[in-house]
Amino acid sequence: DPRIPRIASSIRVIPNFPKPGVMFQDITTLLLDHKAFKDAIDMFVERYRDKGITVVAGIEARGFIFGGPIALAIGAKFVPMRKPNKLPGEVISEEYSLEYGTDRMEMHVGAVEPEDRALIIDDLIATGGTLCAAIRLLERVGADVVECACVIELPELKGREKLGDRPLFVLVEAA
Ligand code: IMP
Repeated sequence: DPRIPRIASSIRVIPNFPKPGVMFQDITTLLLDHKAFKDAIDMFVERYRDKGITVVAGIEARGFIFGGPIALAIGAKFVPMRKPNKLPGEVISEEYSLEYGTDRMEMHVGAVEPEDRALIIDDLIATGGTLCAAIRLLERVGADVVECACVIELPELKGREKLGDRPLFVLVEAA
């Protein structure tokens, strides 16, 4: 797809953020390029508009930026998957491991129902731990996870393998 190179080159890489040795993939520069941002949203919308998706689950925080426009365009509801203690209503939560320690992801009770067909959106997949926590939350309430989608994949970390048989779609692979 001819839109991919512009999307890829609009992503800035910042070495040694948030700590030494990490090459941080920064999508804020993609957001500054209206055409690249629109092309990214359009590519997701084209892929998902006819897949019977009823809920877009966006992962805090950068998954919100992409997930909202996609949900509006495909006619699905949007559900935020949030960091601990941010959601005001009753929540269910899942722990997941980080490089050091664990974190927790939360979702509002009642936001997703057993009949829902879900698309999970984040900016980037590294080890896959974050997407797995989102999958567990959605499947706990009986939803069908149709696919996970990210702007960027770090293929060397093999996060894709953690997702089992839920497909992963990405726009750009990074080193
Ligand atoms: P994982 O759980 O190891 O797959 O890490 C993915 C999560 O960490 C996502 O929510 C990303 O937003 C975040 N993340 C990890 N590395 C980067 C990066 O280089 N750029 C932006 N986000 C990152």
